[in-house]
Amino acid sequence: MTLDAPHTPALNETPRAPEGAVGVDGIGCHAGRETMLAAAREAGAGETLARYAKDYPAGPHDQPQSMCPAFGSLRVGLRMRRTATILSGSACCVYGLTFISHFYGARRSVGYVPFSSETLVTGKLFEDIREAVFQLADPGKFDVVVVINLCVPTASGVPLRLLPKEINGVRVIGIDVPGFGVPTHAEAKDVLAAAMLSYARREAEQGPVQAPRAPRAQEPTITLLGEMFPLDPIQIGGMLKPLGLAVGPVVPTREWRELYGALDCCAVAAVHPFYTASIREFQAAGRPVIGSAPVGVDGTAAWLDDVAKVCNIATEKLDAAKASLLPAIREALAGAPIRGRITLSGYEGSELIAARLLIESGADLRYVGTACPRTPWSERDREWLEAKGVQVRYRATLEDDLAAIDEYEPDLAIGTTPVVQAAKSRSIPGLYFTNLISARPLMGAAGAGSVAATLNMAIGNRARFTEMREFFSGVGEGAAAGVWPEAPKNLPETHGKASKPKANREDGAC
Ligand code: SF4
Repeated sequence: MTLDAPHTPALNETPRAPEGAVGVDGIGCHAGRETMLAAAREAGAGETLARYAKDYPAGPHDQPQSMCPAFGSLRVGLRMRRTATILSGSACCVYGLTFISHFYGARRSVGYVPFSSETLVTGKLFEDIREAVFQLADPGKFDVVVVINLCVPTASGVPLRLLPKEINGVRVIGIDVPGFGVPTHAEAKDVLAAAMLSYARREAEQGPVQAPRAPRAQEPTITLLGEMFPLDPIQIGGMLKPLGLAVGPVVPTREWRELYGALDCCAVAAVHPFYTASIREFQAAGRPVIGSAPVGVDGTAAWLDDVAKVCNIATEKLDAAKASLLPAIREALAGAPIRGRITLSGYEGSELIAARLLIESGADLRYVGTACPRTPWSERDREWLEAKGVQVRYRATLEDDLAAIDEYEPDLAIGTTPVVQAAKSRSIPGLYFTNLISARPLMGAAGAGSVAATLNMAIGNRARFTEMREFFSGVGEGAAAGVWPEAPKNLPETHGKASKPKANREDGAC
């Protein structure tokens, strides 16, 4: 079997995993990226992995440093109406993914097809998945059934591409989302969104499709790419109105039929810049794409210029829109200044636009790290930030983010859980990017000032962190860590309120 010509079983032939395929008791999740990649290529997934490598260029580390990437695809499926999602992977991975999806309020069942070494290697797993899809494909309940191959089934070549494309009018989409091929959960959203756009585009090319649930706007629309706070599309709609345009669906969509409306647009705004495969689908449909986002005064002005250019809006109309919109944003920013030195990092893909907003709010921002890759759609944000002296790091590692904290000694570190934890242990206030920044409006006048109160309050808490650090000084360190390679001698007196470790077994006590 070669990479270029993977074995495609006949329809009546049960696909079998190739010799040397990954088994649950053979090489598995922890075998390392290169081993898993080699196994997956050997098993016929070479074409998919080559596309992922191009779309999602890897960073300096060979494993995701955030949550399992497949969560991104799972979340996209779980947030859509009339969509069933099935995971195919190791039970431990599925447990974690199901847990986190319910933690984030999925309120929807996650399908799972379990496997063993035998069902994986003999091809029975594929048959089991096929059976599960047939059982679920009820057109009264679902528009689409999504099946997601996790690491081990991808590396074993479980051929989801051989699933029927449609059963009883229910669409079937199978995707591989391995941690060794898709670097972040953000990019995994793109994998499923693009697969859906591709399917919907082919449907639209073949004839009439289902109308959207809500009445369509009369004006030409701009489709928004990237999950955002619900107020943001409304804000953007308000900015488009004076240009004679309207806001279209947000991709990833909340329902299958919205995909047709998303494709039927005047232009696409890649508000989140990492949707490479989805952008390819829009471009194949002949839609122009613009990057960055309407954040702050400069960002909004440049974004409106781009919209006007790709939608052929007259200069007078554009100037009038800017004259009515920009002063309100300027005023909102001036009314909610942020005072303090900040470092910012995250894995959502909106880090650069959030950083722009902080700078226009007056923050002394020194560093922006994003787990996402550099793409053309954030180039303007990068240039703008670097012109302000900000260090921008794509595919940033946890080590990069921590080094920035050490270098810039910020008053506030915004970042992921381990970044916030590290900042607090240094007596630096920390805020979670995902929960506290990306879950707020960022666009237009509503975005200006939306984060200032939270950030200023956190910056003002530094004295409390210093107090807490003194109080807990020594807890969890050295002998107080509870791991004693040898019997501790000359134990220090109790640090703060932390209790002195009890004697160990060598002292005759449990
Ligand atoms: S699917 Fe892969 S990346 Fe996700 S938890 Fe399992 S081994 Fe890790």
